[in-house]
Parts: sequence; structure tokens; C-alpha cells
Amino acid sequence: MREIYLDYSATTPVKQEVLTEMLPYFTGKFGNPSSLYQKGYEAKEALSLARARVAELIGALEKEIYFTSGGTEADNWAVVGTAKSRKSKGNHIITTKIEHHALLHTCKQLEKEGFDVTYLDVDKSGLISLKQLKDSITDKTILISIMYANNEVGSIQPVREIASIAKEKGILFHSDAVQALGNVPINVKDLGIDLLSVSAHKIYGPKGVGALYVRKGLTITNLLQGGGQEYKRRAGTENLPGIVGFGKAAQLAGENLDNHITTITELRNYFLAEIQKRIPDVDVNGGMVHRLPGNLNLVFNYVEGEAMILYMDMKGIYASTGSACSSASFSASHVLAAMGLPVEKAYSSVRFTLGDFTTKDDIDFAVNEITMIVEKLRSISPFDKEHDMETAQNCNCPA
Ligand SMILES: *Cc1c(COP(=O)(O)O)cnc(C)c1O
Repeated sequence: MREIYLDYSATTPVKQEVLTEMLPYFTGKFGNPSSLYQKGYEAKEALSLARARVAELIGALEKEIYFTSGGTEADNWAVVGTAKSRKSKGNHIITTKIEHHALLHTCKQLEKEGFDVTYLDVDKSGLISLKQLKDSITDKTILISIMYANNEVGSIQPVREIASIAKEKGILFHSDAVQALGNVPINVKDLGIDLLSVSAHKIYGPKGVGALYVRKGLTITNLLQGGGQEYKRRAGTENLPGIVGFGKAAQLAGENLDNHITTITELRNYFLAEIQKRIPDVDVNGGMVHRLPGNLNLVFNYVEGEAMILYMDMKGIYASTGSACSSASFSASHVLAAMGLPVEKAYSSVRFTLGDFTTKDDIDFAVNEITMIVEKLRSISPFDKEHDMETAQNCNCPA
């Protein structure tokens, strides 16, 4: 059966060029970068090249890139490492209500350990207010952690302005750029970012590898104890094949960035236009201006998003409700809730994310199928314009 993958924000396939560079590091070039003989040097050189490539993609120095097991570890490390190392200066952290769970759950844990966390609101476009950010800062604030771009609705935050507010107050600024990487030009020096999380498997690299950028001169407490790898900051024998793959993926992402942005944006806009032409009562979650190129988050009113996913799956079309991580749980998206979306619209939402292997033909096929699925589901739905889900929920009828 034809497969149409429209969930690039959940993960991406490894590109052939990336796999080709990785393979020798599983077999012939299996050396440990810490070993003091040829096989070790060979591995060490590959490690250094990968580091330089990731550094270049975000405008950092090679020495500022610390490889981790993924975006989750980078987020955990940035927040916990800052909290521990700056505890004597204060116990207040500012973040947002729409962060990835890697960040939110870490903050919740720190709250149990005596830290105060402010979770900033977002507007209906999924953007924070700089005024609320400024008003939230106290003399105890040690960290501002605000994601570069959101994984569910693709909103891109005013990172430059946030960085300058943080700098003015002498507060560290961390940004989760896992979704932004490869989709937005990023330059940490130019933007004034202190800590930045990235991950390989969202940019056509392998799963299980990521990095934390830590600005030169800045030290935060280590998360792992052990050997002296990663300039003594992240213990554990390096995932060399993964790191090599990340490096290659970063190089390709840099080379393709402009073309990627133009192509994917056009395709996404075409997708939206076709859906709106064919299906009535569809809303877009979030604004279209400060948005990731491939992201489209839609409300198919009067239809359950979960049902849409199942029916699309039967046609080989892959998309998700909310984020990949929350799709197995029954609670509605915390991101859509923070944007003020009523619960019934959140339950009717589906996220499509396009990527480098998406074609116009895929979109045409998907739009056709989606149109039929929505028609079918609406024909059996007890809800419509006159009887919406909200009214139903207010009347105690059995759910
Ligand atoms: C995927 C993702 C993460 C987690 O990265 P992993 O490498 O899967 O651990 C963190 N933040 C955002 C915004 C993500 O999309």
C-alpha cells in the first residue's frame, strides 16, 4: 500500500547519505575515540568533524557542542544543570506552558525540589508576550527557558528579543531548538543564546543522539558522572555512528536550508488551500506568520482527531493528534489548551508535518482521502453546526 508520511515533527527517516557515512563506524571503524592508537585517533577525528558540522549549523564554536543521547537529555541537562549550578543565586525559572514534556516534566521535578517556576501564557498564535516575560522576572530568576519553535503548532518565538531581555538582566537563556533546527536559520552568537538543545532524528539523522550548545565560558553542573568524554562534561563512551550521522545530517540541513524552507512552505500552503477548498468548517490552529515551514495543525470540526488518525492510517496516511508523545494518552494537548482552544476543538485537531520527501502528488492523494474520511465521519457524527460538542458536554449526556 502507498504510504504517505506526514509526521516529520515526530521523527524523520535517515537520509541515504547520512546512513552511508554512519555504517563504517559500526564495523571497520569501531574504535573508541579515547583510545591512544590509530583506531582511536580515526574515531576521534570523526567525532571532531561531526562536532564542527553541528557547530556550523547553529553558528557556534566546535568546543561549545556537547553530544547527548538526544533532545530530551539536552533539555534535562540545560535546566537541571543551570538550577544546580546557580542555586545560590536564586531558585526561580521562567518557561512557557507549551514546552515539550522533556522541559515541562523537568521543571515539575525541580518544583518538588524547592524551585519556583513561572509558566508563561501564549496567545492564540502560540506566541509568548515579551511584556509578561519581563514582568515575571524577579531578582531570584536564574534561567529563562523558551522553545525556539513548537512541535505541535510550529509557532516560532521571538528568540532574539527574549535573549536580549535575559542578557540585560544577567539571566541565562536556554532554548529548545529541536524543531527549529534545519527549518529556520539559527545563529546562537548573533541571537545571544546561552544554551540550545538540538536532536538528530528530527533532521534526517539517527535517533538517540542530540547535543547541547553551551556558550563558551559558561559552566553548568554535569548530569552524568563517569569518564572524561565531551570535554569532561558528558560522561559515557560516545555514540560514534550516531554522532557521525548527526554531523552529516547537520551538513546537509545547512546546505539545503534555503531550498528546504521555500519548497516545504509552498507545499504546506498548497495543502492548506486544497483542504479549505474541499472541506468546510476547518480551522487552522496557530498563526501563519511565525510558523515552521512544514507545520499544519487543523481542526476538523465535529470529528474526533483520534478517529481521523485511525481512518487515515487505514489509507496509509500518517499524521498525529498533538505531539507524538501525548498521542497515547487521553488528555487533550497542553499546547492547544494554552492557546485557548476549547476542549472539543482540541479533540478535533490533527497535526500534519511535511518534510523533504513529501511530494505534491502525496498531498493530492492525501487531500482526496482526507476529504472522504471527513465526510464519512461527519455523516455519523452526532455533532454539527447546530449541535456542537461543547453543548453536548454541558448537558450531562453519557460521553
Ligand atoms: C522531539 C523533541 C524533543 C525530544 O528530542 P529526542 O531527541 O526525541 O529526545 C524535545 N523537544 C522538542 C521540541 C521536540 O520536538
